[in-house]
Amino acid sequence: MAKNDYCSFCWRNKDEVSLLIEGKEGYICDLCVKEAYKIVSAEQSRNSSKNLEPNLYTPRKIKEFLDEYIIGQDEAKKVLSVAVYNHYKRVNHELKKGENDIEISKSNILMVGETGTGKTLMAQTIARILNVPFCIADATVITEAGYVGEDVETILTRLLQAANYDVQAAERGIVYIDEIDKISRKSANPSITRDVSGEGVQQAMLKLLEGSVVNVPPQGGRKHPEQSMVAINTKNILFICGGAFDGLKDIVLRRLNTSAIGYRTGDTKVDQYKGENPFKYAMHQDIKKYGLIPELLGRLPVLSYLNPLDKDSLKQIMTIPKNSLVKQYELLFKMEGVKLTITDEAVDFIAQQALELKLGARGLRSLFEAAMTDTMYELPDKKGVKEFLVDMEFVTQILNKDRIKHLKAA
Ligand code: ADP
Repeated sequence: MAKNDYCSFCWRNKDEVSLLIEGKEGYICDLCVKEAYKIVSAEQSRNSSKNLEPNLYTPRKIKEFLDEYIIGQDEAKKVLSVAVYNHYKRVNHELKKGENDIEISKSNILMVGETGTGKTLMAQTIARILNVPFCIADATVITEAGYVGEDVETILTRLLQAANYDVQAAERGIVYIDEIDKISRKSANPSITRDVSGEGVQQAMLKLLEGSVVNVPPQGGRKHPEQSMVAINTKNILFICGGAFDGLKDIVLRRLNTSAIGYRTGDTKVDQYKGENPFKYAMHQDIKKYGLIPELLGRLPVLSYLNPLDKDSLKQIMTIPKNSLVKQYELLFKMEGVKLTITDEAVDFIAQQALELKLGARGLRSLFEAAMTDTMYELPDKKGVKEFLVDMEFVTQILNKDRIKHLKAA
């Protein structure tokens, strides 16, 4: 057989494979390349899990990192930095502790704040700083076992995947559970009828949050019944839950009002908190009233809040963070050899529109996309364009009422 007729590793004939790559002394087929890649990845992740310590920075340092990416939200940043620092101190303590040592309890975190104010970004950034696996799960797709939807274990499947199937790494990762408010009980009183979307899911979630060994389907879902389960201990996984908690403000204000002036209700005390974010005063008892069960709340001892974003914050979000939208678009244009300039008035206009859309900073991205798509479509074919100006005239013209209306509907 000629040298180029078969793979030097598996001896498959060239007709049996899709590709034969030529080396100095022989050939390798596409199947062997894939096999070799798997071996290399497994070996690398085995070596990386030898280094089990996440980057342990002080709370001040963690907050400084957060400041680079997140505008405002100082209080939440501080609370989170301390909670995360304590969490990983506790993890290290667990690894070394003797039998009679004090046990430090876990500090899972609950964040309340309107949509698009940076809850997910905050959790994501912390995971990146610490260099631990991270995943985002949506509480609304989780159902009780036996119902249509995802089992609670699949949250950990995602974490395992984020950790490249390295179980030890996954066991010290961070999980962000979004829309935790959407699984609240419909009324504060336990109901005799089954509440599929609410309490049952909260009960199912308890077993993740409390720290137990959970059997996780590595491929996720129920589509692969043949897969063998992977046991994951959630004791050292940090859970950060977030939600917009529509209506919680009223519960908080009602409590503040009645407790401040006896049982008389009136506007006087509400006025006292005028202009302030009522979430600032939220307590576990308010969230319980909102519909989260006490057992779940007990496992989310750290409570923090985010402020709604005003126009100035939205403007800053567009321009200041390391990977701000303006910086991203400048880079995209630079790759085409074009210098992009976005005027302050244009940024102001976009911030105002985002404010009206009530999507927090999330609306900024859609507005930018709507404003820039036509240009980004045409620019690569245009020769000789060296500069592009996005000013008030450009944004008002392009973000005409129709386009904004469409965003509102989305
Ligand atoms: P939430 O989880 O509160 O609904 P996200 O964290 O998903 O909101 O925010 C959506 C996007 O808006 C983020 O990816 C980020 O680009 C931007 N954003 C939101 N809040 C901030 C903030 N405080 N600082 C910087 N960017 C922000």
